[in-house]
Amino acid sequence: MSSSIQKLPRYFTYELFEKVFMEVIEKLPQDFYSFSYLGSSVENRSIFGLRLGHGDLKVLAWSQMHGNESTTTRAIVELLENKEFFQLLDNISLYIIPVLNPDGADKWTRNNAKNIDINRDAQELSQPESLILKDAIDFFEPDLALNLHGQRTIYGLENSVLPCQLSFLTPSADPDKRVTPSRLQSMKLINHIITDLGDLPKAAVGRYDDAFNIYCWGDYCQSQGIPTILFEAGHAGEDYSRDHVLELIKESLMSVLKNAPMIKDIENENESILRAYQSIPAVQKNYVDILLRNAPSINGTRDIAIMYHEQVATGGLEFIPMIYAIDEVSILYGHRTIDLAKEEIFQNDLIIEDDMVVTSESLKISSFIK
Ligand SMILES: [Zn+2]
Repeated sequence: MSSSIQKLPRYFTYELFEKVFMEVIEKLPQDFYSFSYLGSSVENRSIFGLRLGHGDLKVLAWSQMHGNESTTTRAIVELLENKEFFQLLDNISLYIIPVLNPDGADKWTRNNAKNIDINRDAQELSQPESLILKDAIDFFEPDLALNLHGQRTIYGLENSVLPCQLSFLTPSADPDKRVTPSRLQSMKLINHIITDLGDLPKAAVGRYDDAFNIYCWGDYCQSQGIPTILFEAGHAGEDYSRDHVLELIKESLMSVLKNAPMIKDIENENESILRAYQSIPAVQKNYVDILLRNAPSINGTRDIAIMYHEQVATGGLEFIPMIYAIDEVSILYGHRTIDLAKEEIFQNDLIIEDDMVVTSESLKISSFIK
């Protein structure tokens, strides 16, 4: 297939998404897909469903229920142009809802236009976006649900210096976090993803926290016996456009579809599946964007943790460095760590504004647009 289609950047307007998505769909083989309008968001943006393949195993995937988590949507759109991806759909019916929260995607906010977190609305169903997802689950009755998210730059891993570039979770089905058959089936697929990804050179894959919350969609699906995998596209190094992790998300989705047809064969494997899953290191909030160690101040040297605030700007997203914490012992690493006790280029030019925005010309800390 041709790859003449424009790629989606990390931040894209809804108009651009609609244009690129329609262009991609028009190139799909006619007898292979069906496309439907599922309803509208609070601000009346269309939410679409795309069904691919005619296989028996039903896989439902939705992305960007949090508007500012675009990496998985980009991965889906790019996979729709990939021949190998289609070869995996022989035994599968795949139902995709890309951009479940188009208003948040447009404004680059987690929540929807009514400032509700759709991923806490799985019980009340107070928002149109939630009703669309609930209808899709009820109507499609998936054998596997893929809940596609992105995570902030604050995650590393337990007992590791590496940042967490990607994490997975099979959400709990009940407050006791019992290992139900649907959880085991999801664990099996997650284990396969880890194997298929192999070693990442400067980052790692983690296991997300499984505290039960019935108001979250993954936990709700799992409580209904639907094997569910949460994907979190993370961050490492200077990949602020998340182009590298985008490739890993595509590989992970391919791995899931490749292995999904054997999802139900878990007999006699329970122990080994559980053991392999539990051996994936747990994610930990121990990273920030920039960690300034030993910054001189009137009251001694301090460790200053800086996080980028992301906002929509002309030409993409603006990343604004802001103070996040000072001398916080749980923060161990920065995607950039600068020890000012050893750093010779520092010219004592750290500027901290009243709104906590930080700049330093000598350290090259400033806002940038990606
Ligand atoms: Zn999310």
